[in-house]
Amino acid sequence: MTNKTLIGTAYDGQVRFIISDTKELVQYMHEINGTSKTAIAALGRAVTIAALMGLQLKDDQKVSTIIKGDGELGQIIADADSNGNVKGLVSNPYVDLPLNEKGKVDVSGAVGKTGTLKVIKDLNLKEPFIGEVNLISGELAEDFTYYFSASEQIPTAISAGVLIDTDYTIKTAGGLIVQIMGGANNDVVDKLEKAVLELKPLTTLLIDYTLEEILSEMFKSEYKVLEEENIEFICDCSEDKFIRGIKMLPVSDIIDIKKDKIAKVKCDFCQTEYEIETDKL
Ligand code: ZN
Repeated sequence: MTNKTLIGTAYDGQVRFIISDTKELVQYMHEINGTSKTAIAALGRAVTIAALMGLQLKDDQKVSTIIKGDGELGQIIADADSNGNVKGLVSNPYVDLPLNEKGKVDVSGAVGKTGTLKVIKDLNLKEPFIGEVNLISGELAEDFTYYFSASEQIPTAISAGVLIDTDYTIKTAGGLIVQIMGGANNDVVDKLEKAVLELKPLTTLLIDYTLEEILSEMFKSEYKVLEEENIEFICDCSEDKFIRGIKMLPVSDIIDIKKDKIAKVKCDFCQTEYEIETDKL
């Protein structure tokens, strides 16, 4: 899976960015989940942003994001780590809405405009860092932008999108997080605001441009790539984990499950099916 990601700084280190082409990741998730256009547009945005947030971490730290809107998609979960591993799920992957009045996939309508975005960061400390904000629009990029300013006090611009082709495959998908570092001067803030405003939608740019060309378009020559990373869909489920999960159920449920020789379970993230011999429970 090639989901090229570039991490770097701009304007003399006063701004940091992370940009990724996540077309293969989103296409893979579209296939395993059999998602509708609307569901993959929402899930693709969420996993892309979560993956970028994961790559901002270090030393195997993890981030889990949970979007609970009042729309028909239900809950969206996207988990990532500092190594570029990501997984995600949406409760109702077949929900599809008509295009919105702008002719775009109605992510906001399907996620819901009311609800919460919760971010749990496992920073290898005793307690995880937990931040929660109300949804602003349900478009997700805006909601995560608000999360960063309200919960982490970092001025942030986020773009994330999924463009679906006429044959329902993913044409482009990607994400960009740009953040102003503490102590940046006002000129930089103004320059960045202008650059972000003038930038065409990322999914449009990704049709014809490489990530480097998009960065040049945005920052002119004033940026530096410090790292190149890759994002991968990886699920950490296993038969052992399911067995441990089942063992935590009430005894009456376990007795019920043990009536059959085999218990069939399916992972909601990667759709892998396990046939567990109930003797093991
Ligand atoms: Zn799994």
